[in-house]
Amino acid sequence: MTDLLWLQGGACSGNTMSFLNAEEPSVCDLVTDFGINVLWHPSLGVELGDALHALLDSLVTGQRTLDIFVLEGTVIRAPNGTGQWNRFAGRPMQEWVRELARVANFTVAIGDCASWGGIPATAPNPTDSVGLQFLKRNHGGFLGKDYRSRANLPVINIPGCPAHPDWITQILVAIATGRADELAFDDLQRPKTFFSTFTQTGCTRNMHFAYKVSATEFGQRKGCLFYDLGCRGPMTHSPCNRILWNRQSSKTRAGMPCLGCTEPEFPFSELAPGTVFKTQTLMGVPTALPTGLDKVGYVKMMAVSKAAAPRWVEDDIFVV
Ligand code: SF4
Ligand code: SF4
Repeated sequence: MTDLLWLQGGACSGNTMSFLNAEEPSVCDLVTDFGINVLWHPSLGVELGDALHALLDSLVTGQRTLDIFVLEGTVIRAPNGTGQWNRFAGRPMQEWVRELARVANFTVAIGDCASWGGIPATAPNPTDSVGLQFLKRNHGGFLGKDYRSRANLPVINIPGCPAHPDWITQILVAIATGRADELAFDDLQRPKTFFSTFTQTGCTRNMHFAYKVSATEFGQRKGCLFYDLGCRGPMTHSPCNRILWNRQSSKTRAGMPCLGCTEPEFPFSELAPGTVFKTQTLMGVPTALPTGLDKVGYVKMMAVSKAAAPRWVEDDIFVV
């Protein structure tokens, strides 16, 4: 049995909704096939009051082993570092988080908020929110950059707003089946198996990107969303077009720009008016370019691709 505890800090519950919708494997599969014992979860836990307190105490005192500690949501430190704005089981949540992370074999941050602060930590950050081991791209966060769980791993970050259900359950299975040492992580402590490709990898609009044919409104079947509608697919690490949502589709396949929700800077431009769903440009060149491409390369690529575009790219080829 692998004992798992899931707590929620400054969160909207979106990652819980995602988790409960997992299919490959499902939450039931975690319990019946992979031996995960959910000690407590905000939507699944049955203990309340003194019983919950006793369970938490047994974990932080080491009477009971905590295999996987999951946090969804930010660590709220306001006001003045006390954490009193987010109390749980009789004390500030931040105190439980620190003590549970100290005894856990593995600590997993689910979603942007737990990974690096997400929307709650966006300026002016009134709740003084922070992620477990990052604040935006700054290493450190609530637990500090030297934090290691008992299995000698830093916090495993599974970002997203929310994270895809299968990213969550597949990493939990890897841990529960003793394969955590096979996981490779990037600089932001994200599992590379999910976060080394881009949202653009597998996007059905790639040929329109290549020939610079732009979509001008949401839901259009034809055209790439990068040139006018602010799609961040070429610079966002996610498998959203490899591991589809609901096994069906993705934002960009449906004609909705990628917002870059798996990157620490999300929400980009701090949601300033006129910056969302609109490509920001300077002298006609997007200010955010595809990863690995500089301004000169971009201008050259556009000149060639426009000139080389075949006539069919202006047609709606996705006939229903
Ligand atoms: S819609 Fe977005 S992800 Fe798809 S090809 Fe265009 S820029 Fe890339
Ligand atoms: S398509 Fe982009 S914004 Fe949407 S879930 Fe994937 S990474 Fe996040």
